[in-house]
Amino acid sequence: MALPRVAVFSLGGTISSTDSGGKGVEPTLTGEALVSDVPEIADVAEVSAASFRQAASGELTVDDLVELASEIEDRIDEGASGAVVTQGTDTIEETSFILDLLVDRDAPVVVTGAMRNPTLPGADGPANLLASIQVVASEVARGLGAMVVLNDEIHAARFVSKTHTSNPATFRSDPVGPVGWVSEGVPRVLLRPVGRHKIALPENAQDRPVALHTVTLGDDGRLLPAIEERGYAGLVIEALGGGHVPSVMVETLEDLAGKMPVVLASRTGGGEVLRETYGFVGSETDLLERGLIHAGPLNGLKARLFLALLLRSGATMEEVEGSFGSWLEE
Ligand code: ASP
Repeated sequence: MALPRVAVFSLGGTISSTDSGGKGVEPTLTGEALVSDVPEIADVAEVSAASFRQAASGELTVDDLVELASEIEDRIDEGASGAVVTQGTDTIEETSFILDLLVDRDAPVVVTGAMRNPTLPGADGPANLLASIQVVASEVARGLGAMVVLNDEIHAARFVSKTHTSNPATFRSDPVGPVGWVSEGVPRVLLRPVGRHKIALPENAQDRPVALHTVTLGDDGRLLPAIEERGYAGLVIEALGGGHVPSVMVETLEDLAGKMPVVLASRTGGGEVLRETYGFVGSETDLLERGLIHAGPLNGLKARLFLALLLRSGATMEEVEGSFGSWLEE
């Protein structure tokens, strides 16, 4: 029986990093090398490997991911069962979310990496790559969009975050948990995220940069005027607690919200921004009345990318607001 075809794209990161005589490990291994290092893959899928980038994941840009999403769609249309992307873990929670929004196919996309590079005992890259290919080659992940598979857990891109600098169990999906796992080489999916959130980009759509500002104790908002001056097209505010900022910031935020979409998220990392609990100046009620847009269930990092891609797609202010609202409608 013919094995499923899986397209592997390597982008660099720890999973590909070896000692090449510099100050520390750096991305060196190609996609082909990563795949040939794991002979068990040949029993699971027929893999085509491409080295799309070879960089630390902080070098990747939204433009890179837009290009990758379109290449993934091409491979799927040519008959691949799905795609596996290997890259640095530092930005996986962002890149996987971009792919989730842009790749409009039922075939799954899995992003993976490693916390221990290939020169270390217990290097986790080979196991993560094999598990990712098992997920893509199976039927269970169809229709789930983009996922992150590491440490034998399957996480939905919309929920996943990196939570530890070095622990291989760094990826968490609070508050829902992983949607499944891989056990003895068999992928299991036990939860399916509701709703399908896709963004279609017109040909040659331009980058629309969006800033992310985390509000802190005693923040006087002096950075905010630079958002407009430096040419940002939108802003996400990671506010305190349920969606609060010091009162000294509200006028500048209201002014910005009249000129560009300003999205209100929370810096807490869990729960949704409140709507009608507090009434003080700088409260969630006050900020929403001043024109800020509720981030729904998205944290600051994901809200920033969602807004950047909506703006790149040409969405109006009303469409941006409706799109953020749709995350809590299903
Ligand atoms: N520490 C990172 C990794 O896990 C480096 C990067 O994101 O490129 O790959």
